[in-house]
Amino acid sequence: MTTLDVAGIAVSPDHYIDGRRVPSDQHFELHSPIDQRLLGRVAEGTAAHVEAAIAAAQKAFPAWSAMTAAERKTLLDRFAEEIGKRADDFCTLESNDAGVLLSRMRHGVVPRAMLNIRWFAQHALTLQHRPIDTEQAYHIVRHDPAGVVVIITPWNAPLMLSTWKLGPALAAGNTCILKPPEWAPLTCSLLADAAHAAGLPPGVFNVVQGTGARTGAALVADARIARVSFTGSVPTAKAIAQAAGANLVPCSLELGGKSPFIVLEDADIDAAAATGALMYRNAGQVCLAGTRFLVHAQVADAFVATMRSHVERLNVGDPRDEATEVGPIIHPHQVERVAGFVGRAVAGGAQVLWGGAKHAFGAQYYQPTMLTGLKQSDEIVQNEVFGPVLTLQTFADDDEAIVLANGTDYGLGGVCYGETAHATAVAQQVRTGFIWVNSFGIRDLAAPFGGIKRSGIGREGGDWSFEFFCDVKDVVVPKKPFKASFSHR
Ligand code: NAD
Repeated sequence: MTTLDVAGIAVSPDHYIDGRRVPSDQHFELHSPIDQRLLGRVAEGTAAHVEAAIAAAQKAFPAWSAMTAAERKTLLDRFAEEIGKRADDFCTLESNDAGVLLSRMRHGVVPRAMLNIRWFAQHALTLQHRPIDTEQAYHIVRHDPAGVVVIITPWNAPLMLSTWKLGPALAAGNTCILKPPEWAPLTCSLLADAAHAAGLPPGVFNVVQGTGARTGAALVADARIARVSFTGSVPTAKAIAQAAGANLVPCSLELGGKSPFIVLEDADIDAAAATGALMYRNAGQVCLAGTRFLVHAQVADAFVATMRSHVERLNVGDPRDEATEVGPIIHPHQVERVAGFVGRAVAGGAQVLWGGAKHAFGAQYYQPTMLTGLKQSDEIVQNEVFGPVLTLQTFADDDEAIVLANGTDYGLGGVCYGETAHATAVAQQVRTGFIWVNSFGIRDLAAPFGGIKRSGIGREGGDWSFEFFCDVKDVVVPKKPFKASFSHR
């Protein structure tokens, strides 16, 4: 068994299948976005590993699904506890391999990962459909576990997103195979250690490391799986939907965004600008960030000046430093992608309000950037950059703001600042999966989460997660003796 030493933490680069570590004779290299140092070589999942994981998950399914929700909750609570015991290790690992701020890991991500497991285990206890009780019959609406669930997550929030899916999938009685992101796979490996220490039965939770094109593609194309829950990009979602669709396997797809950040003429400019600066969190690698600023022309100068003063104070640097607010970009390819978007926009006539170039701190750092002078049809207005690059357009009235807000193929989130009733009225006309009024990032695990248009298919969160991860069955019991008749409807 091999072990990597990452900043003093021992973490396995191997798969976790059927309750034990499984090495591979094929590997991919993992580098830190902080300084490009080699963190280690991680197992690549081959066809044999995919086969072993599916077989293990199938074998574990009957016993796990037959447990009561309360029995599963006992084990899942222990799983959350084990995550908590190793909180510092999770923080350090994800900071080193994904570049996430250590402070954010400590105060936001790890507590949320524990809650993801605990909350859905608790929710499964009380899950029930509203009663259907008619003159003819009563209906027992059951949420039966679907079977083997494949979970595929992206690099920008691997621990948070993996537990967001594992929590309800396991609580519902499914067995799971997690395929972590190849650019940031380490906290998913540590999750397997936590599950093992908690005593989850072998095969209930498996981790198969590997690249998307090979390991991920093999998992989602297998006809024995019951569900795919995916978070990632639109092109990958199309490939997954095609592969799973060939077997009629349902997919939940949580995808990218190009969400509007609307500032109405009656907005609190200071509050809007302070929230606006938060869009550079995680170096802009946040699906739900408002990245297209739409600002009423009357307040545009004041807004730009105020937001500039916030952005000038942002600390760009090493994510392990408590004072850092904007860390690195995940991978050299992604840095070039971000620079390419900005270069093409500027060549096409865009003006740089601030930023616009790589940051002197290091090779994978980019300056918080704002571009303006854009047309709605411009590439950078229409496409997700997934870096610290925002755009700003102005509008003359609410109708124009709504047309611009709705004028892309994405529909994930949004932010709307203005007098509360006014902003709420505008927000309701933006075509999107969710939108925050005079705020940003308020989440509740009971609420639905997901996008429309190219931002995704389906909803997870609260009951919606269980609707997806379960087979919903109606058991119909007549109230009077049933008389068989061909003319009866
Ligand atoms: P990606 O689509 O490249 O990869 C996501 C995952 O899919 C990785 O684990 C990858 O290995 C796997 N994968 C790639 N090809 C595959 C295939 N053919 N079959 C099966 N699996 C495959 O996305 P990314 O670059 O890692 O993540 C960034 C994207 O994720 C952005 O578009 C971002 O907006 C989106 N995202 C969305 C949400 C949300 O909740 N809506 C949250 C975070 C990130």
